Amino acid sequence: MDKNQKDLRMVLMALTRTREEEIGCDECFERLERFVELDLSGLDAARAMPLVEDHLGKCGDCREEFEALLEALREEGRGPVGRLWARLRRSLGPG
Ligand SMILES: [Zn+2]
Repeated sequence: MDKNQKDLRMVLMALTRTREEEIGCDECFERLERFVELDLSGLDAARAMPLVEDHLGKCGDCREEFEALLEALREEGRGPVGRLWARLRRSLGPG
């Protein structure tokens, strides 16, 4: 990790603290799909959702989930996994 990344991490952590407490795995998972969509849209997901980014940096399980979801959403509509995720997304409610 170079200095810039380290600085960025500190900024994100500071942002996290000023907004609310850090999130757990459940909350991370709830927000993950939106986070991935932002990322796939070319937007700055880490900046928009620093709590998720923060958690992903600390939690290997959620990181794996994030990567799987990223892959799934890329493939959405093109296979059973994509359809499964699409259904899951709807069940998570609006937003
Ligand atoms: Zn986690």
